[in-house]
This record gives sequence, C-alpha cells and structure tokens, in this order.
Amino acid sequence: MAYKSIDNYREKGARKRLIELLRKKGIEDENVLNAMWEVPRHFFFDETFWNQAYKDIAFPIGEGQTISQPYTVAYQSQLLHINKGDKVLEIGTGSGYQTCILLKLGAKVYTIERQQALYERTVDGLTRLGYKPHFFLGDGSKGIPGHAPYDKIIVTAGAPTVPDVLLQQLKIGGILVIPVGDENSQQMVTILKVGEHDYEKVVLDTFRFVPLVGDKAW
Ligand code: SAM
Repeated sequence: MAYKSIDNYREKGARKRLIELLRKKGIEDENVLNAMWEVPRHFFFDETFWNQAYKDIAFPIGEGQTISQPYTVAYQSQLLHINKGDKVLEIGTGSGYQTCILLKLGAKVYTIERQQALYERTVDGLTRLGYKPHFFLGDGSKGIPGHAPYDKIIVTAGAPTVPDVLLQQLKIGGILVIPVGDENSQQMVTILKVGEHDYEKVVLDTFRFVPLVGDKAW
C-alpha cells in the first residue's frame, strides 16, 4: 500500500469503467457511486499493482488481509443509508479504503483494526492523504463502547454470529451491516434497531470475507 496520490487519465478511465460495472451489478445509490469516483482505489495499492486496482476483486494488503472487492464496498455502503453527520463505527479498518468512502459520504467515522502493523500503515497513509477518521487499535468485535451509541455500524470481516454488544451500541433507528456465516461464505445481514430491544433483521446476498477474529467472534 503506497498511498501515493497521483491520479492520471489511465486510472481515471479505469475507475469510470468500474463504476459503470457496479451500476450494472445493481448499485443504484448515486452518492455511493460518486464517493467511489472521488476516492481513487489505486492510492491503496503499491504502484506495481495499479493495474489491479480497478478490477472488481479483493486484493492482498499484507498480514493475511485484503482490501475488499469494490462491489462489496459499494453494497455495504449502500445498505448503511448514510446521512451527512452520521456517527459510524467501522470494524476492520484494513487498508482504509472503505473508511474513506464513508468519510466522503459525510459520516464521522470511528474505525478499529486489530492488527497493529496494518493499523500503523493505514493511519500513516490516510493521514498523508488528508482523511481524518478516528482510528482505534484493538478488538472491534466488542465495538467501541466508550464512543457509543452509533447511527450506523459496519463490519468488514465475517462473523460467526451477530455480537449482542454491537446491537447495544446502536442508536434507536440505527443500522448494523454485518456478514455472518462460516469461514467459507457469509450472508450479508442488516439489522435495524426499532426499539431498545426490538430489531428488524434482513438476510441478503452471499459473500466471502476474511474472518472477524476476537472475543465476540472467531
Ligand atoms: N474494508 C477494508 C478494506 O477495504 O481494506 C476491508 C478490510 S479486511 C476485508 C477485514 C479487516 O478486519 C482486516 O484488516 C482484519 O485484520 C480486520 N479484523 C478482523 N477481526 C477484527 C476485529 N475483531 N477487530 C478489528 N479488526 C478486525
């Protein structure tokens, strides 16, 4: 991950084509598509791999982790229905690409990563690019209770179950988006908190994420 901010015509063209592909695959939220235009994904790749940045694929970022597939980032972002000023907890900072999309959508982002090397690299890279989420190092499967409640919570790694602590940290009217399943595949789950102890759950499409590792996870 280089976080080198040169955006030339070749990368811009490839990004435009990727956005058209996401549209064809069913992403309809223009704010999300616009944010994906405004955050050049190749900034999150070493220059040697810039030719991979606008393929609709996940890609290794070191420490056995991946930058999520663009379609997955768009899909989860769309499900969050971000309003400007929303306080969003992101669990699994990774490369910080999804973090930047949330910031472009106008969210105040609290993002947590458990792997120290990845955390340090991403804090440094995003800071150099001028993005300013609140960064945390630690086990996000427990949420970040000290800053709760949140309008929205997004989990970018696959969980075995929905951790109760995350539901407790949602505001009423808030949304949790989390992939739930086994190590091979997970279904995207959205949970709307309609009352202090009342939730509406919707189970959506199947994805494949790296595991959410932690006290309330694998
Ligand atoms: N959206 C990120 C991106 O585009 O780069 C995706 C990151 S990757 C698919 C998932 C991340 O979750 C990994 O960096 C992994 O280390 C992290 N992770 C896994 N379990 C975690 C936990 N309990 N707390 C915080 N981060 C966790």
